[in-house]
Amino acid sequence: MQEFTKRMTAGISAAVIACGALCALPVTAADNAEPFRVEGEDMEGATLWTSIYENQISDYSGEGFFYLTSSSGTITMTVPDDGMYQIIVRGAQILDENGRYQTVEVNGSEYHKTVPYADKWTDFDFGMVRLSKGENTIKFVSKYGYMAIDYVTISPAVFPDLSTATAETCDKDATPETKALMAYLQSVYGKQMLSGQQQIYGGGNSVQTTIRYDAATDTCKDTNGVEYVIDRDSKDKDEQGNEFYWHCTGPDGQVYTFSTQNHNYTYNNYNNDVNLIYDLTGKYPAIQGFDFGSYCPCYAWDDGVADRMIEWTNEKGGICTASWHINVPTVLADYTLGEPLDFGRTTYSEKTDFVTANCLKEGTTEYEYFRLCMDNLAKELLKLQEANVPLIFRPFHEAEGNGGKDGKGAWFWWAKEGTEVYKQLWAYLQDTLTNEYGLHNLIWEQNLYTWSDDSALWYSGDDRVDIVAYDKYNTVYNRHDGKTSGPNLDAESGIFYQLVGYVDGKKMVAMAENSTVPSLTNLQVEHANWLYFCPWYNTDQDPFVIGEEYQDLDELKKVYLSDFCITLDELPEDLFQTTVKPVSGTTTTTVKESDNADLLGDVNLDKEVDVEDAVLLARYLAEDINAVIDAQGKRNADMNASGAPDTDDTGLILQKIAKLI
Ligand code: CA
Repeated sequence: MQEFTKRMTAGISAAVIACGALCALPVTAADNAEPFRVEGEDMEGATLWTSIYENQISDYSGEGFFYLTSSSGTITMTVPDDGMYQIIVRGAQILDENGRYQTVEVNGSEYHKTVPYADKWTDFDFGMVRLSKGENTIKFVSKYGYMAIDYVTISPAVFPDLSTATAETCDKDATPETKALMAYLQSVYGKQMLSGQQQIYGGGNSVQTTIRYDAATDTCKDTNGVEYVIDRDSKDKDEQGNEFYWHCTGPDGQVYTFSTQNHNYTYNNYNNDVNLIYDLTGKYPAIQGFDFGSYCPCYAWDDGVADRMIEWTNEKGGICTASWHINVPTVLADYTLGEPLDFGRTTYSEKTDFVTANCLKEGTTEYEYFRLCMDNLAKELLKLQEANVPLIFRPFHEAEGNGGKDGKGAWFWWAKEGTEVYKQLWAYLQDTLTNEYGLHNLIWEQNLYTWSDDSALWYSGDDRVDIVAYDKYNTVYNRHDGKTSGPNLDAESGIFYQLVGYVDGKKMVAMAENSTVPSLTNLQVEHANWLYFCPWYNTDQDPFVIGEEYQDLDELKKVYLSDFCITLDELPEDLFQTTVKPVSGTTTTTVKESDNADLLGDVNLDKEVDVEDAVLLARYLAEDINAVIDAQGKRNADMNASGAPDTDDTGLILQKIAKLI
């Protein structure tokens, strides 16, 4: 970790100093001192325009501009090191009021941006791109085109300070475990990355058995006569009025679930996904992803997810995150409130006449239905809270879908009516769970995309969100490495920093779902500091975890085994027990001047080196006024003996806790 940080720091300095924020088109970097700027009309292959037919766009720089129509314009640029660079186009776009999709090809990799309508010269940020040591080609490709380019500026990327992301939960009354988890996440954010893995839910990875419930003897037995312990709290009735129990447990502790279809008991190999990772890397992920999709009012089915989450945190020491694939009736007229409806007649897609806005309108069926949804969900979340398990909760994910603020690009019902209804629904869920159900164990994570400037409109705001996230699926679509299939090792740093920009650096940014885990090299060179990654679960059809169309297994192993990536065994033992209160405002962590002897890493002078020390130091370095460290604490914090505490020391304390050093 320390080595990583140092190397990257050196890399940036080299780029900034040697390249001087400039690098050259036929000149090389060292010859200039300003960001590299090329007139559009001077690009290779460009033609000179001074008006777009009858339309004048005055005040262009140079002799005119390049209008991207049938030919492309290319810049050749030499840089001294591999690194990230920012491309800004001074441009205009007067063809399409809804914006125009543009493509820039950097050494053959495509980057995209929808350029909004602009009849005056405007700076369009094409984001960060990666340039390689030596000569690079940057080509504005004629595809959808019709963008006027006055000039292009290319400068070494300046990476925002990620330590400004808050460690404070938006729920001021969050439980101590929740605050502790949030503080830990913030303490590693920007320095390391947590590994994550989604597990299958509902009826996935089903294993059939011969166990049946016999009402006459009130027992659960298999055909060999083995008896199973019935979970008496799980009593229910089927549609014919026959009583059954949802769960029973075998002699080896395996819990079995009743199949309403076959009337036998089955179990699901929910550990399949993390086991695949373990078999490949010898490590388990630090975070496991779950889903509450089974708790739908139409087919309420207890798949035991809360128990699995509690076990993951309280027995394995792992971190839980969860999404909520909550279904609604496909045709609302088919549904009678509170009555079961076959799974096949429900959907989580946008293809339903269920009016999302009505979830907020009392007296509508949608309102009553959504109350049932929230009630089912809250019951599971309360189980976690009672077991002191905090959760990174990611409801209403992938809101924007394919793009646009009106919801037309949405593929989930909760987003199909646009940003305003979506944000109202988010607020309603949050307020209901927090205030009515008293749930305070949630770290609220909101999934955003970055297709256009409108994407930021899906954000619910600093007071309602703790973490923002992106779902990276780019093995087929949205890839810009010039390939059309196979693993895509891109770290998507451009998207990462765009998301950082949406939230002004105030929130952590995660990769909540993904296909290919980015390569370690890409993550490091590009400073793509995603808080965590989390591939979707493995199925025969879409083997996201180990399928060779999705993962480069050697690269995945490299990530898992690196110091950069935190695995389950590397999480602090007292992750959820720490008593540090990271929330500022009412709480002040002050450490008294004392005569404690040197104990490297003991920042808060409690004579122990634990996560509290790393958290306190991280807050101190982030200039949190409530994080006070005295002179002895500063000496103890200076793990790398640089003379003063710095961000390297935070990582070194964590390594010391994890017994790496
Ligand atoms: Ca120009």
